[in-house]
Amino acid sequence: QKARIGVTGLAVMGSNLARNLARHGFRVAVHNRSAAKTKTLVEQHGHEGDFVAAESLADFVDSLQTPRQVIIMVKAGGPTDAVIDELVELLEPGDMVVDGGNAHYADTRRREAALRERGLHFVGTGISGGEEGALNGPSIMPGGSPESYQHLGPVLEAISAKVDGQPCCTHVGPDGAGHFVKMVHNGIEYADMQLIAEAFDLLHKVAGLGAGEIAEVFRGWNSGDLESYLVEITAEVLGHVDEATGKPFVEVVADQAEQKGTGRWTVQEALELGVPVTGIAEAVFARSLSGHTEQRAAAQKVLPGPSSVPQVADRDAFVEDVRQALYASKVVAYAQGFDEIRAAADTYDWDIDLGAMATIWRGGCIIRARFLERIKDAYDTNKDLPSLLVDSYFADAVIKAQEAWRRVVVAAAAAGVPAPGFSSALSYYDALRSERLPAALIQGLRDFFGAHTYRRVDREGSFHTLWGEGRNEIDA
Ligand code: NDP
Repeated sequence: QKARIGVTGLAVMGSNLARNLARHGFRVAVHNRSAAKTKTLVEQHGHEGDFVAAESLADFVDSLQTPRQVIIMVKAGGPTDAVIDELVELLEPGDMVVDGGNAHYADTRRREAALRERGLHFVGTGISGGEEGALNGPSIMPGGSPESYQHLGPVLEAISAKVDGQPCCTHVGPDGAGHFVKMVHNGIEYADMQLIAEAFDLLHKVAGLGAGEIAEVFRGWNSGDLESYLVEITAEVLGHVDEATGKPFVEVVADQAEQKGTGRWTVQEALELGVPVTGIAEAVFARSLSGHTEQRAAAQKVLPGPSSVPQVADRDAFVEDVRQALYASKVVAYAQGFDEIRAAADTYDWDIDLGAMATIWRGGCIIRARFLERIKDAYDTNKDLPSLLVDSYFADAVIKAQEAWRRVVVAAAAAGVPAPGFSSALSYYDALRSERLPAALIQGLRDFFGAHTYRRVDREGSFHTLWGEGRNEIDA
């Protein structure tokens, strides 16, 4: 009997995904470049379901039902291309190749077009949830043809996380749509983590709370609007004590944040699309800054902070302010991320259902959170919502938070504690709602030095002022 689906690439993600498939009753073919991993998987977990181990890619392909469905879970980039090149020689028209790695969506578009020429379906699929999600139910974001989803959908939905009985998997859109949405998911994750880190820093340095106390604060926050996986595990990490030193774990970890690149991609694409994802950008830059240890060491020697730091009069009130600032800033980061998805959907003609994206992020993935339900409601009410911030629920939330949000940004600045996420989110809020922006002055300057022209508020057309010759205004 042939296998329903196959997985090639059996490192941590691939083997867990294969086990998840097997545990759901799918006969699953498994293959890895080096056969040792395949053997280990079947030896250790063969009893969990119906595995068909293959040593060669040809045997692997042979063991599959037609149309064949192959999930590739190898290192993104060159290795994925290498596997695809080998696979296409073995597949037949109508077969489906799912790339579950963290591919750049532009690579996915290129691969999809190339495989389409050969009559194959290429299904770039974002998978979030890390190794634990891959095993027990990730959030799955498949792109590709609607036809391929008819075959793959039932399998992917079965192994995905479920929230209120609904699968955290839906067909996102054609070609690169799935990987694009996964990329933005990761970008939002960067912003979310940066905001959480700033909240911790402020509670520690401004309110003087210890890591254990802050762990309790986060535990409390996890039962309100902020309820989410990241807030939950923040309490775990902050509450953890290093065995060797007896100090809070967070105090013995080197303070240089690393990154694999999906946050950077999100910002790069946002720059191309012209979408201001300031929260995600600040998060990526904050990680980068943390790694500049030489500059930091040099600056620490010469650049002092404020001469006196105002004391927090009411700690509980400050904690509540930080909670509200965190929530409001988080709403901004999500609003920006959804703007980026919408812009890409318009550019590439993807027709993405934004509400459905919020739905499939409710479970399985790293940014899973209670408030994603509200995002879905917002887009259900108005799928053309200009910004999440103007939806009545979210507008109300940020309006209620704004005084606290401002106090926190002021307190951070006064204390000399960096809070780029909180302050840029607040600036974004203020910029969006401003009736006039100083962009008018920028237009004037551009026209002055480069004759770049400007539009006027009072009449149609394009104008240029002859700055050096009597300052007459002419039609441009
Ligand atoms: P890795 O990214 O560490 O990749 C290791 C796997 O790639 C091994 O199976 C390896 O085979 C295979 N491989 C590498 N080069 C080649 C090649 N040239 N030809 C064939 N196979 C090759 O594995 P992960 O499980 O961590 O991740 C798999 C994919 O899932 C990646 O794209 C990753 O970005 C993505 N992902 C990872 C998440 C995570 O939390 N780790 C979360 C979501 C997505 P061999 O054993 O022979 O070396």
